[in-house]
Amino acid sequence: MLLFYRMGDFYELFYDDAQHAARLLSITLTARGHSAGQPIPMAGVPFHSAESYIAKLIKQGHSVAICEQIGDPKESIGPVERQVVRILTPGTVSDAAFLEDNQDNVLLALYVQHHRYGLASLDISCGRFHLQEIEGDEALQGELARLQPAELLISEDWNHAILNEALHITRRAPWEFDYETAVRLLTEQMQTHDLSGFGCQELSVALCAAGCLLQYVKATSRATLPHIHAIYVEQRSESVILDAISRRNLELVNNLTGGDEHTLVAVLDETRTSMGSRLLKRWLNRPLRDQAILSERQASVQQLLVHHTYAALQKILKDIADIERILTRIALKTARPRDLLALRSSLILLPLLQQPLIECMVPRLQQLKNLFHGYPYVFDLLSRAIIENPPLTIRDGGVIARGYDAELDALLARSEHAGDYLLELEEREKKRTGCLTLKVGYNRVHGYYIEMSRLQASRAPADYIRRQTLKNAERFITPELKTFEDQALSARDRALAREKMLYEELLDQLLPMVSALQACAHAIAELDVLVNFAERAETLRWCCPKLTAESGIHIIGGRHPVIESISTVVFVPNDIEFHAEQRMFMITGPNMGGKSTYMRQAALIVILAYIGSFVPATSAVIGPIDRIFTRIGAADDLTGGRSTFMVEMTETAHILHHATSHSLVLMDEIGRGTSTFDGLSLAWACARYLAKQVQAHTLFATHYFELTALSDEVKTVKNVHLDATEQDEKIIFLHTVLPGPANRSYGIQVAQLAGVPRMVITEAKQKLRELERQTTSISSTNQVDLLSVVHEPHPVISQLRAIHLDELTSKQALDWLYQLKEMV
Ligand code: ADP
Ligand code: MG
Repeated sequence: MLLFYRMGDFYELFYDDAQHAARLLSITLTARGHSAGQPIPMAGVPFHSAESYIAKLIKQGHSVAICEQIGDPKESIGPVERQVVRILTPGTVSDAAFLEDNQDNVLLALYVQHHRYGLASLDISCGRFHLQEIEGDEALQGELARLQPAELLISEDWNHAILNEALHITRRAPWEFDYETAVRLLTEQMQTHDLSGFGCQELSVALCAAGCLLQYVKATSRATLPHIHAIYVEQRSESVILDAISRRNLELVNNLTGGDEHTLVAVLDETRTSMGSRLLKRWLNRPLRDQAILSERQASVQQLLVHHTYAALQKILKDIADIERILTRIALKTARPRDLLALRSSLILLPLLQQPLIECMVPRLQQLKNLFHGYPYVFDLLSRAIIENPPLTIRDGGVIARGYDAELDALLARSEHAGDYLLELEEREKKRTGCLTLKVGYNRVHGYYIEMSRLQASRAPADYIRRQTLKNAERFITPELKTFEDQALSARDRALAREKMLYEELLDQLLPMVSALQACAHAIAELDVLVNFAERAETLRWCCPKLTAESGIHIIGGRHPVIESISTVVFVPNDIEFHAEQRMFMITGPNMGGKSTYMRQAALIVILAYIGSFVPATSAVIGPIDRIFTRIGAADDLTGGRSTFMVEMTETAHILHHATSHSLVLMDEIGRGTSTFDGLSLAWACARYLAKQVQAHTLFATHYFELTALSDEVKTVKNVHLDATEQDEKIIFLHTVLPGPANRSYGIQVAQLAGVPRMVITEAKQKLRELERQTTSISSTNQVDLLSVVHEPHPVISQLRAIHLDELTSKQALDWLYQLKEMV
């Protein structure tokens, strides 16, 4: 941890800390004093701008301890007393300055026992505390990808080689994961007799993790955590499972380069509050399998579309502050004055949310509506206590409103009357000295003074004591002014101390309301997401999918929501039809034809349906889905030290092991990373296994034309292809999915589109013709012989006659010959 050591107006760092901080923050590394004959490295930042520096460190995964001056420098002999007052770590921060508004900030503790992983996760900024247990490394990777923890706690003695290096890992002592301690701490925290009410007694591994997590949070936040009062148990089987790779491939929340452009969430998220935006991402990262909950959400969305109720609600929601996080800061006593004002102005809006919902008779919307009452007690308290435009912090006072506390008012009046007194003193002294330019003033270092110009300073009366000499002026103090100064300063000090005390008290008074308000904040987030679904459905012309208990996927006019939103041309909708007799589609067609798009859109539509959203299609009926797998693209994992082929096979093996007949599997051009025959054979075997053994809903895109023959053997495999035509030597993609295999690959035309030089293209065309002529065993003479057998005029014959035989490619020739053979 980097120690920020307060020295006057600076936080300073020493030794290694100084060297680290200088590098991480690009600040100057200097030295202060000596130790054992060596200069002590030092770097520092001004205290008033420290927050932005600390935020930078936290974002990079570092933790910071803040050591403040506790004693009074005026009264101290030697170094002022100091204390570590706050510890900021990436997973435990709750201040707005250190958090992304639209992103959860998760602290995760991980414990391992007999290949079983126990996970305890806490989002301290809203008090969500979850436990779960999973088996196997792959499941762990999947959960880490879903939760994206800001900080990960593991036991010091665990070999964590399987963890991604990008994770911010904090190692804790093994005994912090002790089971008995964990149970004791948790029951204390939840204020319950035991943990049976939360249904987590069985999760002993996860409880060990939870114990460590709780100790860590308490130690770093140095506060009780009154806003954490429940534990939720998560079962992986409750959700449509996405492994880490599929999550990445489908670009739900992050795109392949880690940003959020062109992701599903970028199209989907028009929420009006940060709370809603975070909840939407949570839903998207964990689609639910429980169709009852999903139907409830759909019913709400449908209701919100009637009379455009969603639009009225969005107008109100947009002005609601992030009360979820504000409540946490109240509970942790770190809330700032403006947090409290934001809370107050949001409270007035709550009853307004009820109005449009009165007509919405859907049970879920009614439940939410009932949580939106105005909290008049809190509103009134805050209105009385805080002034309209308070400063950022309570540090220098000026936050508590007049009329809230009589004693504070009296103290403030005393220091304010000072102004009148000083004016009166100035007039008096002007008369006494006859010096009209004389001024009475105040400065922070020297206190009150009487200032006379240098020329007139000689006229200063005997009771004037010199305080400070400037270039053109002298400053004096008189015994009278000194007495006044002592009184004024002490009134001011006492007023400030009282204000701070009142502010603390105010936070205490709000504390009992936190848990009710938290429930209200969750309701706002949920309403915001439902309203968002309604708005998106209408704006983007999405339909309500029908969820059924019967296996299958039927999508009419499906679209890829992200491609459609960024494309400049009209998106071509396509259907998909999976049922008992149709389990796998072998997709062929030219590069750029739309194979990958077609496959991904199926997955995205399923995911949208399983979070309760409408979907980009004309109609959709979707049966139970347990997992979604993807094997897309052939990105080399060079940093992981694995070749493309190895990556491909590892991912494929994983799919073959875990997919079931309820899974949706996308296989995009597997076998590309190896030589043709190897790749082809592997692709064939995988496809066959998926179709015959696993019987998953599978979309299998391939450039191996030979795979289209699989449908002859396995009846549930169907061939489809993406269409393209050629016009003036240029390829035109139609993006329509048609039955049957593709008959051309258009590779050279695509290369031409991509800007490969003309000369190369011409040569490639020549070479292609050569190759095709070589591979065909049928000579032109044979063809002519065959032709002569058949009676004219048949369309195939006339077509064939029209073509110069030299230009006939092997495949065309073969196709036609087969047709001829049949006719003969
Ligand atoms: P493939 O996987 O067959 O090489 P892609 O799926 O990557 O092709 O699609 C290539 C491009 O074609 C996409 O980036 C998109 O711009 C466009 N495209 C794909 N499908 C459609 C469609 N149905 N309607 C309109 N444009 C599409
Ligand atoms: Mg592709």
